[in-house]
Amino acid sequence: MAIAVPTIERAARATIVLALLAAGVGVVALLLSSDAANVSEFGALFLWYAKHRFSGNLVLIGFCGLAALSAVALFFARLRAGFVWNRDLQSGAVPSRQAGAFSTDQLVREARAALEPYLGGRPRIGETVDAMLGLPVDLAASELLIDGEPGDGKDDATISLRMAMTRVRVATMSSSLMALVLDELRAIAGIDGEFGEGSLELRQQQSSESMRVVIAQAAAGTRVRLQVMSHMAIALTLEELQMPTQVLQSFARALEQRSGLVAIVGPRGQGVTTTVYAAAHYIDRYRKEPGLIASVEAPVRHDLPFVHQTEVREGISGARVLESLVARGHGVLIVRQVDDRETARIAVEASRERLVVLTINEGRWRDALSWLREASGALPATTVVGQRLVRRVCASCAEASELGERERELLAKGGVSLGVSVDPKVGAGCRSCRRTGYVGRMPLYELVQIDGGADLDKVSAHPTLEGSLRDALDAGETSAAEALALVEQLREQRA
Ligand SMILES: [Zn+2]
Repeated sequence: MAIAVPTIERAARATIVLALLAAGVGVVALLLSSDAANVSEFGALFLWYAKHRFSGNLVLIGFCGLAALSAVALFFARLRAGFVWNRDLQSGAVPSRQAGAFSTDQLVREARAALEPYLGGRPRIGETVDAMLGLPVDLAASELLIDGEPGDGKDDATISLRMAMTRVRVATMSSSLMALVLDELRAIAGIDGEFGEGSLELRQQQSSESMRVVIAQAAAGTRVRLQVMSHMAIALTLEELQMPTQVLQSFARALEQRSGLVAIVGPRGQGVTTTVYAAAHYIDRYRKEPGLIASVEAPVRHDLPFVHQTEVREGISGARVLESLVARGHGVLIVRQVDDRETARIAVEASRERLVVLTINEGRWRDALSWLREASGALPATTVVGQRLVRRVCASCAEASELGERERELLAKGGVSLGVSVDPKVGAGCRSCRRTGYVGRMPLYELVQIDGGADLDKVSAHPTLEGSLRDALDAGETSAAEALALVEQLREQRA
């Protein structure tokens, strides 16, 4: 049975307090029981005391013993905590944690425990690289950085993690090992030259994460960045969301408004969080007003230093939090994954006097709009961005795939009509995509803008998800299999 790491941490903290307490009481006892008030120097006092009274004072010996025992207990508790954490990480028992509050010490300890077996001795390079790729994902960091001079550096290369806005140095490795790591990363991320950018799919036990690999020249040698795409909200700007120009322009304009409603609609795991955090960044850069933006989220996924973030947990009502944020006079409110009717009503109400950006995790734009209108009676000017992710065909091994009559039919039924001459691409599988045929995922968007009184039956999206999907297929960016899976999902949702 695994003992939870927090339990051990608590025990370790308790022993520290106990040891300090014991030492303190020991010193006080020493001073109190001494009648040599004129001995000013503590060392002299102690020597005198040891000589005359120490052997007889059982209480003091007891306290000293307790302090020593506490120190030993602390040592083993820490050792075991590191071991249990590491083992559970490897067996997958510890899920990726939320990047909420984190302690730097703990992060360094966990990172060392996970990396060290792969950095010394004669490491097998594939395993070393896998450990590095997995680390930011497991510890919910946004990226792992390697800095150094590969091959011939006098100093060791440093490995650091970026959590929110903080960079934490966690380990070092020899520059010769760095050179090997770089070669392996270039091979698996499909980077041809000495410097460049590539990506790869990191398969975890239950999920897969896209990683971006950037190898660049830096002031002191070479810098490697391993960025977790799904954790990249912090690093992404609106421009990096890969929106078609027209969607990007309309979305940005909506975010520049002083009032109104912006809804981002898509199931969990479809990049909605990335979009809403990028929107927060954009608003912050555009308005440049400190204290402007506040959010209510369930839960907070990333710390945004420029947003007053409140997390909704069990027992806290999102609606009450939102009400209090409205009362505090924040100019922009973000509501993430709090999708009860009461919260929606308050959000819509608030959007008449300020900008409100909210996420809705069910249905499509039409469902979202009618739900918001039902909850609140009437809508202000509203922009809805719908989004889904599809896997991106690996560019290194992409080849044309014949599309059967039946597949064309199914796609057409789902609103995705391909020209007869168009055959989507498929990845045959190669080293840079780890034989999956795909590298990362790409977002597909749809966009609707209405003014308050619009008749929803007469409104349509432009572009639509179906149209965006057809374009992606036409361009060979995603495969027919991915398209069919998405069409099926969208059909199920309608039914
Ligand atoms: Zn490939």
